[in-house]
Amino acid sequence: MIPAILPTYNRAPLAFVSGEGAWLVERDGRRFLDMGAGIAVNVLGHAHPALTAALTAQAGQLWHTSNLYEIPQQQALAERLVAATFADTCFFTNSGTEACELAVKMARKYWTAKGQPDRHVVLAFTGSFHGRSSAGIAAAGSKKMVDGFGPLLPGFRHLPFGDHDALRAAMAEPDVAAVILEPIQGEGGIVLVPDQCLKGLRDLCDETGALMILDEVQCGMGRTGRLFAHEWAGVAPDIMMVAKGIGGGFPLGALLATEDAAGAMTAGTHGSTYGGNPLACAVGNAVMEIVADDAFLADVRRKAGLLRQGLEGLVASHPDVFERVRGSGLMLGLRCRVPVPDVVAAAHGQEMCIVPAADDTVRLLPPLNLTDDDIREALARLDRAAAALAEQAGAA
Ligand SMILES: *Cc1c(COP(=O)(O)O)cnc(C)c1O
Repeated sequence: MIPAILPTYNRAPLAFVSGEGAWLVERDGRRFLDMGAGIAVNVLGHAHPALTAALTAQAGQLWHTSNLYEIPQQQALAERLVAATFADTCFFTNSGTEACELAVKMARKYWTAKGQPDRHVVLAFTGSFHGRSSAGIAAAGSKKMVDGFGPLLPGFRHLPFGDHDALRAAMAEPDVAAVILEPIQGEGGIVLVPDQCLKGLRDLCDETGALMILDEVQCGMGRTGRLFAHEWAGVAPDIMMVAKGIGGGFPLGALLATEDAAGAMTAGTHGSTYGGNPLACAVGNAVMEIVADDAFLADVRRKAGLLRQGLEGLVASHPDVFERVRGSGLMLGLRCRVPVPDVVAAAHGQEMCIVPAADDTVRLLPPLNLTDDDIREALARLDRAAAALAEQAGAA
């Protein structure tokens, strides 16, 4: 018999009933150290007083009115995002994949408005992840995600990750509207696009006119120690997808764009019933208030250094379990020499949450406000998990 919940997820047999900071309480009372933050969502951990206050104050006042009316909380959040980024304008969604939908629509509308509707192809990279909507799976193109769901949304072309010659050739095609990529692939296993490559891509986009769409759903909102990861490379996209961390756990996403890229999106061309509603934006403003701050981001970089250094030490002391560390800021991957599900289970055994990824990698995506003690505790627990795995492997 099919379960009451459509069985599309592989869930751990854990249920958390409360949380505080980087800690979660399981229904049996055990306290888990949360180094996954709901897949990079809980940027300020659990039950952050400022977020709880913003949400409860708004909840007592007004939940939802729809985008038929002005929403002051949404206006304030848009102004914050515009002030803090390359963008001139924002559209609010409820998720990352909805931001992907709009990114693709916006790129196509842009060229249609310029009298070039045949310029509709979006270039994307293997190993990427842009969500589970039709545009998202067509963009990512991985077999696991698209199999059986055809016909797929047409107009996507896939390029091998890191092949500059292939990229240059693909960008020269006259039907290319845009290129979409994650500055750091998350689901794909914490794979960084080197700064030089992002710069090179920006140059190619400037030469050809193709729009540069960055998916910062996972790597954005302070995760790398800058508000957005592309800032490290000193380049700006034309369009950027944001979600996950922006709501701190409340469903919220956004599509940010330059005035030029967004120019054809006039009244009636796109919409969302919930997108940017008062509850979501009250929380979004509270998140931005804390995260879009130089001192906060500097502390993320400092803590990222501590965690990374500790992880390098773990790789050195458990060479049979871990291969290497990669990533940026508090978006770190540990490439494993043992099966990833075993590593996740061993972490659960030590009462710690980590997130699996492709490419034999586990991800550490902790709340950005975890403490130095939390970091030391995470390293100690990972050390014990690795020792248990090494023992199992030895016994097998
Ligand atoms: C999670 C994710 C998405 C999809 O976001 P949803 O809110 O699950 O739709 C898109 N892109 C990236 C890079 C992500 O990590």
